[in-house]
Amino acid sequence: MVTRRADTVADGPQPLRPEALALPWLAPMLEETLRTHQGHALLVCGSAGAGALEFVLRLSQAWLCEQPPQSTAAVGALEGGLQVASGRPCGHCGSCRLFLAHTHPDFRLRVPEAVAVSHGWPVQLDERRKPSRQIRIDEVRQAIDWMSTTSGRGQGKVLALHPVEAMNAASASALLKTLEEPPSGARLVLSTADPALLMPTIRSRCQLLRLAPPPRPVALQWLQSQGVADASVLLDGAGGMPLTALQWSQEGLTGSAWASVPQAVARGDASVFGGWPVSRVLDAFQKLCHDAGSTQLGGSARFYPAAQLPAGASLDRLTQWFKSLQRVTRHAEHPWSEPLLIESLVAEGRGVWEAQAKRRAARGSATPEHATLGS
Ligand SMILES: [Zn+2]
Repeated sequence: MVTRRADTVADGPQPLRPEALALPWLAPMLEETLRTHQGHALLVCGSAGAGALEFVLRLSQAWLCEQPPQSTAAVGALEGGLQVASGRPCGHCGSCRLFLAHTHPDFRLRVPEAVAVSHGWPVQLDERRKPSRQIRIDEVRQAIDWMSTTSGRGQGKVLALHPVEAMNAASASALLKTLEEPPSGARLVLSTADPALLMPTIRSRCQLLRLAPPPRPVALQWLQSQGVADASVLLDGAGGMPLTALQWSQEGLTGSAWASVPQAVARGDASVFGGWPVSRVLDAFQKLCHDAGSTQLGGSARFYPAAQLPAGASLDRLTQWFKSLQRVTRHAEHPWSEPLLIESLVAEGRGVWEAQAKRRAARGSATPEHATLGS
């Protein structure tokens, strides 16, 4: 059975939540790119959690915007959105209106089904399988054909792909010729979390742009403005990526639940992870491996509050656990029994601190769980 996407998804972005438009840290990079980028293909290297998709959308909108640049009249007109000195995207010219209404004839966005689902965009799925994490080759070919048709508004065309590593090798090959010689007036903007994942032939045909996550105070202030409680703990847990922290909060993850992960693993309590998607559990455990290893070697914790990290991790057992987590991550599409999988990973994780726990039990010691390591 062929799964058909809703036309609205195939033809453009769906309504962004208002907060997704207001990512103030993107403004300087957007301004700089509009001023300096001359090529026809741009590769944005940055995490979705730092706002890579929003950057791609706003840049596409700005390229198609019909407001003359340097017009100060429009600055600040995009409600809740980016305000850049050039005034682009203006938010209310004919092109911007079409873009924001998701009916722009000269813009196409290609994302995997899983990304569309995570944004709440309507997409028709084959119920017998999980939403695809790939951008399918038929979608890429269709977009390539579309690029060679005439521009609807005479301002050129923009094709956006996010994330570009979600294309398989056949899709990437299909795109190469267009990347090398795009039709006149056409631009491509690709985004990737890690350019090393891409074919060198894709990278070499694009101008690279690195999109860094915002400084911590900026990210914290923004999260607090979105009403996120425990912003500090969630932001650290998300590796400094504010959109990831916001998404966790919207999914009901609290700072105290996140902070309880290390102690729960050390005592072998899998119940804490009931209802967590396996991808989040794997992410949480891999980050715990990082922090446990780092503090054990005299470094500092990055993802968890240092006071919550149990002492006395066995580095050998930690390495074994990390390898198990990597193995499961590589087979993320495998139809695991999720509760059993999580239980088994927690049991293995508990072993990392088992020797220390046994020594304490043998001594009958009342040594507190909290370590001073890394604090
Ligand atoms: Zn405009």
